[in-house]
Amino acid sequence: SYVGYDQAVRILQKLEENGYEAFFVGGCVRDWLLGRSVHDIDICTNAHPGDVISLFPDHVPTGLKHGTVSVKQGGFLFEVTTYRTEGKYEDYRRPSTVQFVSDLRLDLERRDFTINAMAMDRHQNLQDPFAGREDLSRKLIRAVGNPAERFQEDALRLLRAVRFAAQLDFSIETRTMAAMKQTAPLLDRIAVERVREELNKMLKSQSPEKGCEWLCEAKLFAYSPLLEQLFEQSKKHTWRLRHLSSLPQKWTLLLFAARLSTDAVKAVCEILRFSKRDSERIELLVDWLYRVQPQWDAPHEVEWKSILLETGKEIAQELNSLLLACWWNQKERFAQDAVHSVYEALPVKTTKELAVTGRDLYVVLGKKQGEWIGRVLVSLLKQTAYDGLPNTPEALIAAAKKEVALDED
Ligand code: ATP
Ligand code: MG
Repeated sequence: SYVGYDQAVRILQKLEENGYEAFFVGGCVRDWLLGRSVHDIDICTNAHPGDVISLFPDHVPTGLKHGTVSVKQGGFLFEVTTYRTEGKYEDYRRPSTVQFVSDLRLDLERRDFTINAMAMDRHQNLQDPFAGREDLSRKLIRAVGNPAERFQEDALRLLRAVRFAAQLDFSIETRTMAAMKQTAPLLDRIAVERVREELNKMLKSQSPEKGCEWLCEAKLFAYSPLLEQLFEQSKKHTWRLRHLSSLPQKWTLLLFAARLSTDAVKAVCEILRFSKRDSERIELLVDWLYRVQPQWDAPHEVEWKSILLETGKEIAQELNSLLLACWWNQKERFAQDAVHSVYEALPVKTTKELAVTGRDLYVVLGKKQGEWIGRVLVSLLKQTAYDGLPNTPEALIAAAKKEVALDED
């Protein structure tokens, strides 16, 4: 397949020819057994990193400290990792040191969930000491070993459980879930960037609404009242997430559905450290949703013309995708090409197309520069687009004079 199965088999073969063991391991085995597409192949071996390096001259020493060498083979890159256990866990995060071991089982034992703790050789013989295959067929996320201990070792696993449940449309096994409830407060020790990345993977998954439900059931965000509110209060609407394609749109939907205030929306963006670009977009879109569609029932007529003129085509179209996802039974009303044709029909589309510039205005009107210029330009744009004001310097200046005179009254 496109991830380089044949090339990976060659790596396994070469390791075996040199007297080592080597297996496919983790996510690729899980996804292969499920018939899902495999996006990258990880290999584990009892060869030490030094041995791997000398067997495969074409390599990148990616994570030597953790026993990982990236081997290039036929244009593909594979992570080859020495069997290892992890040293002592400190502060509920994964340790920085590891110990190499000679037994595959010990390597599988350190992995988080049974479905992620399987290995397969190149003849497709499965090594499955924790019955991961059975959990695959029962559609269950189950911790390897004692669940509470495993979540205490690494609290990110709390979110990984929820994320895999969402991606695979699985349930979380009862004892694993009970341990999650018990260890949930530890999640606040995890770097927020890693929390955000897991949430993003969950939101992009096949069943984001399931992920949100598990998240609430385990009370993973009990440590953050705002995040807890976000997921608790948006519960009834998370099924709509599937209908959205971009992450900023999905976050916008959650924030809007949770009915958070403008300040709370800002605070969530800050807590999760979204990029400046994403935060701005999300805040703008939530704001627009409140303005154009304050009620879930009784969808409003939307004035696309004025939205387009105020915020431009890009945001208007994103807003439209959101409206379509929220009110999918209003397809005619919110058809994407409707916005497009309204946009195309506008005689002027941005203030840049006006026959006067901001500079023209303050020179001709003899007023000091200030925020009035932007406001007057938008007003001129609207008058030109709606009310047939001609887009000529004379007409625009005259209209601007009227506007300013009104302002001064
Ligand atoms: P995907 O790449 O599709 O998200 P994956 O199963 O490959 O899923 P990765 O995060 O790439 O997940 O990790 C690879 C493997 O490493 C996992 O299958 C699991 O066996 C192990 N692993 C990863 N993170 C952890 C963790 N926090 N605790 C224990 N084992 C882990
Ligand atoms: Mg992976």
